[in-house]
Amino acid sequence: MADQVVIVGAGLTGLVTAYQLHRRGVPSVVLEADDRPGGRVATVRFADGAVAEGGMEEFWESSPAYPLLQELGLPLMDQPALSSVMLRGCFHPFRGGSAGAYFDELGGRFNAGFDPSQSISASDDEMSLPEGLLLVATLQGDPVGCGALKLHSDTGIGEVKRMWVSQSVRGLGLGRRLLETLAGEASSRGMHTLRLETNETLSEARHLYETSGFVEVEAFNDEPYAHHWFQRDLTNAPTRRAETVRYT
Ligand SMILES: Cc1cc2nc3c(=O)[nH]c(=O)nc-3n(C[C@H](O)[C@H](O)[C@H](O)COP(=O)(O)OP(=O)(O)OC[C@H]3O[C@@H](n4cnc5c(N)ncnc54)[C@H](O)[C@@H]3O)c2cc1C
Repeated sequence: MADQVVIVGAGLTGLVTAYQLHRRGVPSVVLEADDRPGGRVATVRFADGAVAEGGMEEFWESSPAYPLLQELGLPLMDQPALSSVMLRGCFHPFRGGSAGAYFDELGGRFNAGFDPSQSISASDDEMSLPEGLLLVATLQGDPVGCGALKLHSDTGIGEVKRMWVSQSVRGLGLGRRLLETLAGEASSRGMHTLRLETNETLSEARHLYETSGFVEVEAFNDEPYAHHWFQRDLTNAPTRRAETVRYT
């Protein structure tokens, strides 16, 4: 008699495992403590009679679920997005919007104003995988923060660009969270070092970098708006990626 695999839990993980084993002819039994299968995937019924499906509904093409969903013939809808971020359990595709506020604020704060065409580039292409990425945090649909990464796979250096948190949500730790997510992204994509430069007027940004493992170094580029250059060793950084931030 063939060995039987015992799978504990009939959530997505357990059910997909059972499905894959079944396809390979390996018998399995799934044990579930709850009175229904599905785990966190559930149909939610509201008092007013509305019904909503909760659970996995949005994911990147890199998700291991993608080929399986195609194989099962489930209807999938493509949504254009330069990049995305998950915050508080919500997945936010980026379609533009925050760059204007970011540039306006820099122009207002920098003593010499800010003209993005004079600054080291961070174009849409450079901020799209595999060249780089852009994380955008939104609150009730409005962009309230962003952070970009240019990935230099030839040197193993990740370049942080466009770090910005809106005045309306400062002090909540969003900047640190974006920065840590960028560090995790860079590390998991093979970068050993993270670099950035900043303007002397952005004192809160400098404080964030100094307390996030960055050390100030000699100028490594000729960015006209920079007065301070920072570097962080990613050798021991966590390799968390934005799309795998846990749901609560
Ligand atoms: C509202 C919502 C929206 C989401 N949206 C997305 C999305 O857009 N994209 C995305 O990628 N993900 C999304 N997720 C997350 C995704 O649904 C979960 O990551 C996934 O369902 C987790 O599956 P799992 O099998 O690993 O865990 P669970 O679903 O937690 O399943 C674990 C199962 O194991 C059972 N169990 C635990 N211990 C025992 C035991 N000792 N004996 C027997 N049974 C046991 C539990 O009862 C449960 O049924 C969302 C989640 C929620 C709640």
